[in-house]
Amino acid sequence: MHHLPHDTGWIEVITGCMFSGKTEELIRRLNRARYAKQRVVIFKPSIDDRYSADSVVSHSKQKLQAISVKVAKDITDHVDDYDVIGIDEAQFLGEGVVPVAERLADSGKRVIVAGLDQDFLGRPFHPIPHLMAVAEYVTKNLAICMQCGNPADRSQRLIRRDATVVVGGTESYEARCRRCFTPQPIEQERLFETAPPPAASAP
Ligand code: ZN
Repeated sequence: MHHLPHDTGWIEVITGCMFSGKTEELIRRLNRARYAKQRVVIFKPSIDDRYSADSVVSHSKQKLQAISVKVAKDITDHVDDYDVIGIDEAQFLGEGVVPVAERLADSGKRVIVAGLDQDFLGRPFHPIPHLMAVAEYVTKNLAICMQCGNPADRSQRLIRRDATVVVGGTESYEARCRRCFTPQPIEQERLFETAPPPAASAP
């Protein structure tokens, strides 16, 4: 970002898989704004209580005070006094975060959203792909594949769970490259087990 806009708001998206440094990058941008005496606030979904209830903490233990919100529209209750709005783990806030981010940017605020762009099956994880489309700036961070060392953009789930949303750290996920990523083989096996037998013959 060499040429920052002025007299207008905008949206920045920081995305990528787990362990790609999204939260570190969000915290870095917010701290830089704070040094410039801009008024900064950060939100996170209340579902994510990994390390602390009221701060955003990256895997590398960087920390920033945060406001937890249940739904995206709660963000609009707390932003009047701020210039820069950070939203972490936005994939857990659902599609509602898109109109909220757009409204804040329209009203002149700088909105920085961090979140996963793919779910544990490698599918687009909304609302992040939608936000990437309407954002002025998109940064896709890559991690390092924990199997082979290639650049990685997928989050491999290592435990057996059915829900798309499983919040966890190092113990439940690995960053994987395209080649090493295996979308939940256990679940696929079970799907095959329960599939109906093939029809005997076509009519
Ligand atoms: Zn790999």
